Amino acid sequence: MAQQTTQANPTVIVQPPTQSQTHLSLPVDPELSDLLIIGAGPCGLFAAYYSGFREMKTRILDALPEAGGQLAVLYPEKYIFDVPGYPEILARDLVAQLVAQASRYSPQMLLGERATDLVRNSDGTYTVFTEKKGYSTKAVLVTAGVGSFSPNRLNIQNQEKFEGNGIYYFVKHKSFFKDKNLLIVGGGDSAVDWALNLKDVTKSIILIHRRDQFRAHEQSVKEIYSSPQITVRTFTELKAVSGDDSNLKQAVIFDNRTNKEEAIPVDCILINIGFKANLGPIANWGLQMENRAIKVNGRMETNLPGIFAAGDIASQSDSVKLNLIATGFAQAALAVNVAKKYVDPKAQLFPGHSSEKSA
Ligand SMILES: Cc1cc2nc3c(=O)[nH]c(=O)nc-3n(C[C@H](O)[C@H](O)[C@H](O)COP(=O)(O)OP(=O)(O)OC[C@H]3O[C@@H](n4cnc5c(N)ncnc54)[C@H](O)[C@@H]3O)c2cc1C
Repeated sequence: MAQQTTQANPTVIVQPPTQSQTHLSLPVDPELSDLLIIGAGPCGLFAAYYSGFREMKTRILDALPEAGGQLAVLYPEKYIFDVPGYPEILARDLVAQLVAQASRYSPQMLLGERATDLVRNSDGTYTVFTEKKGYSTKAVLVTAGVGSFSPNRLNIQNQEKFEGNGIYYFVKHKSFFKDKNLLIVGGGDSAVDWALNLKDVTKSIILIHRRDQFRAHEQSVKEIYSSPQITVRTFTELKAVSGDDSNLKQAVIFDNRTNKEEAIPVDCILINIGFKANLGPIANWGLQMENRAIKVNGRMETNLPGIFAAGDIASQSDSVKLNLIATGFAQAALAVNVAKKYVDPKAQLFPGHSSEKSA
């Protein structure tokens, strides 16, 4: 196996990644953690709590600028009904609770940092590189969900100028759309649900879809057609946007059967035409994969020593794969307790009851 050293990272690299090696010359943080968690979705956040509870020095990093994974990005304003202990909870509120729970033991939370490279050092520790730095750790838990995801984009005139300033792909706060003339593009559950969710906040909503059949819940489709605040335009696509330097003012839409164009005044556009999830570099770290997930055994161990996986990204042998928050939580608890024993072989596997610890 190739050996490599760099001045900034004097550790001997025994397992060079197959990805671009550009980040390997970045400085390495001097602090060695016990457990580094990749992905601050619900599973990673719960793992961070558990890791602190097991008295491990913990780092958790996420490519996104905020914690919460799919809940924060894809459905922050939706209610979840199947999280134990909560008859119903808004996804955004569950994230806030998980962050509060994870914070009890003050893990180092690194947001806006995407893990790109994994290096196994000669002493058995690992260094995970992001685009900013290297972080050394005794064990790694990958809770990267479906990978880092990015929204599908249209290719329309002036799109880039207004992205983030009139054109949006996510709804962070409903109040952001208060009294706005909103154009929603899409024909799936997201587009339809947002039209319904935002109809009482906005001034007006036009929902356009390139076909006449929606791929959304039947009852929700009935509701959009019967809501006076929502104008539904089928066989309609977005062609161009325009405005002044600071504001989006107009969208040009067209009927894709006749190509007849129409300019409509808009304040914002919400594009909900799906997401691309990309596991990216993690898929090239030498981890055994199965259907775009990392293969783990019943102890959440991957094929690499000291590297564990849990949540949506983990495919557990001899088990059914249910990509749910509740199953991810259980896997996180398993992974962290096994990781504890890996880091400190004298430790008990069973963590003890949290209820018996002092607050
Ligand atoms: C619309 C929708 C509704 C849902 N409703 C429910 C429901 O009602 N009940 C339920 O139980 N489940 C629901 N789910 C599923 C649930 O959201 C997932 O099972 C859960 O989010 C998985 O959590 P996770 O922590 O494993 O991964 P994720 O939530 O996907 O989080 C993974 C995190 O890892 C980060 N990441 C990925 N790659 C990297 C990298 N290289 N470096 C750094 N960070 C990285 C990502 O940015 C992300 O923040 C729903 C999903 C969707 C899309």
